Amino acid sequence: MTSLSSPTRFVRPADSPPWKAELRQAVRDPAELARLLELPDSWVEPARAAAREFPLLAPRGYVGRMRPGDPADPLLRQVLPLADELAPATGFDQDPVGDAAAALTPGLLQKYQGRVLLVTTGACAVHCRYCFRRHYPYSESPKALAAWDEALAQIAADPTIHEVILSGGDPLTLVDETLGELARRIADIPHVNRLRVHTRLPVMIPSRVTDELLAWLTGTRLTPVMVLHANHANELDDAVNGEVARAIARLAGAGVPLLNQAVLLRGVNDTTAAQAELCERLVDHRVMPYYLHQLDKVAGAAHFETPSELGEQIITKLRARLPGYAVPRLVREEAGESSKTVIR
Ligand SMILES: *Cc1c(COP(=O)(O)O)cnc(C)c1O
Ligand code: SF4
Repeated sequence: MTSLSSPTRFVRPADSPPWKAELRQAVRDPAELARLLELPDSWVEPARAAAREFPLLAPRGYVGRMRPGDPADPLLRQVLPLADELAPATGFDQDPVGDAAAALTPGLLQKYQGRVLLVTTGACAVHCRYCFRRHYPYSESPKALAAWDEALAQIAADPTIHEVILSGGDPLTLVDETLGELARRIADIPHVNRLRVHTRLPVMIPSRVTDELLAWLTGTRLTPVMVLHANHANELDDAVNGEVARAIARLAGAGVPLLNQAVLLRGVNDTTAAQAELCERLVDHRVMPYYLHQLDKVAGAAHFETPSELGEQIITKLRARLPGYAVPRLVREEAGESSKTVIR
């Protein structure tokens, strides 16, 4: 047993799990992505230029769910660097959601009452071009367990905090030994009752849902909640015995409540049909649609912006055609507000 005061180190497993290899072998070279998807060579140079700002990163399993030969594929658009990203756009800046102002200590953000967000790592399994964290100063965030001492001490000192959200980057890029140790240390703080994980990994690299992950996620007194992030139905398998479906079923079977957040993105999921299909497929996988986010106005993402009324129109139509529980809340994040702003 480790106590709060014992020195902790970044723990490395003896043998590397398969998901680590998938992470390492993800596609990073625009030329390779173009080759795998039979895209014209003319895509490569602009992609290289944009990737210098925020590198291309896409796991092979995810690339395998894209349609070859289709530059408009909704999964491809989420990861393909475009020259559009380099064009300056008014109103789009580096820290659109006020994260810098919300930092309590390096790696710990609090914007809302009762819950804090722990930036566990800057690493992700995929680089989403619209991500508001593409400019976040991750190098200043803790990379090893010992570096979380300060954040954990702050949580321990504030009895109004009842939920810790592991975020990033993607917390599930860390190994289970590290996350298990972190979960135990959070569970040692008596006023914290819930452990929430924000992650894209079960969708991106389903083999990440290991026995060890289920063990630490459900193995403390903390109530677990997992918030997945899928933007399009094609990110999830259609078959119930598909790889992603099986990973999600294991989480659901272990009793972990599963929610999904998506971002409304032009050219990806900006139609009622695309949203309805996503929501229905999520529910069929036992994942409840939680939030549909309006795009954060981050520099480099202006080409994903949708007309201002579109999100509301889509939600209204979804409500007329889906069960109430299958319709997400359309929200916007505004710096300085006490919660996400619910638009509809
Ligand atoms: C979005 C966010 C949360 C979570 O908000 P919920 O409405 O509880 O899902 C918590 N902390 C920060 C800093 C956030 O940005
Ligand atoms: S933090 Fe989430 S949305 Fe941003 S790049 Fe990583 S996986 Fe994508």
